[in-house]
Amino acid sequence: METFTVGSASVTRIEEVLEVGFKPSFLFPKFDPSVLARDPILTSPNFLDAASGCVRSSIHSWLIRLDGRTILVDTCSGNGKARALPLFKRFHMLNFPYLDNLAAAGVAPEDVDIVFCTHLHIDHVGWNTRADGDAWVPTFPNARYIFGKAELEHWTTGAGPQVFPENVDVIEDSVKPVLDAGMVELVEPGDTIAPGLTVEAAPGHTITQLILVYDDGAGHGFVVSADCLHQPIQIYAPELSSCFCEAPDAAEETRQRLLAHCADTGALLLPMHFGPPHAGTIVREGDGYAFRPATPN
Ligand SMILES: [Zn+2]
Repeated sequence: METFTVGSASVTRIEEVLEVGFKPSFLFPKFDPSVLARDPILTSPNFLDAASGCVRSSIHSWLIRLDGRTILVDTCSGNGKARALPLFKRFHMLNFPYLDNLAAAGVAPEDVDIVFCTHLHIDHVGWNTRADGDAWVPTFPNARYIFGKAELEHWTTGAGPQVFPENVDVIEDSVKPVLDAGMVELVEPGDTIAPGLTVEAAPGHTITQLILVYDDGAGHGFVVSADCLHQPIQIYAPELSSCFCEAPDAAEETRQRLLAHCADTGALLLPMHFGPPHAGTIVREGDGYAFRPATPN
């Protein structure tokens, strides 16, 4: 289990699954294999599965402990959810020990104060709910579930269901039950959810996606970067947006801003899908960027 200490905050990775993912040429429509020669880490077994040529792909939450609060950022895919559509085969009727992994970090579901979802895609909201007979009920009974106001509107009254129809059932079983329970609080860019922990807009992957930026005011920071980056490859080739990005050009602009922020401030980058050690820092190299994997505590 990886824990990183940043100022007075600690951040622990809660794994759902670490597996072989997509071929980079599928994940990134503009992929050019020459990028892999830019840094040996890109073809290391942590990031690329040599046998299949596919990326290593993690799905995890980041558990932030800060100022006495227990904050769970993004809740993976969830167990026991029927995902019959071919695109979602990977998420069908899962049975992963996610709650055991959370318990191993010393956290029971009732201990979670805040659940924050960067965006409302299938692999970021699943454990918001768990099965109780035929019903989906909130997994974290004492939490405030914090979503972006615009992101929620995107999937309820906005264009989300048209641009990504596969995700509609996900909203139904993993978002609607916590809304119905009156547990949701909506935020906008600029809002703060804990001391030093600010919500920022990160449009592109979804047009209303959010990230969390931490600054302790004494030179320590991190960014939970949602799906601004799916793979380290994109640090070396920021022009690569994923095939799942709603607005690829906006996603590239957001990625450039994020990489510049991390390089300029030394903030720890905490992405949602990188292979081990799952987090790192960004340095400038030539006219681009390079990745320096972080060492957990
Ligand atoms: Zn994702």
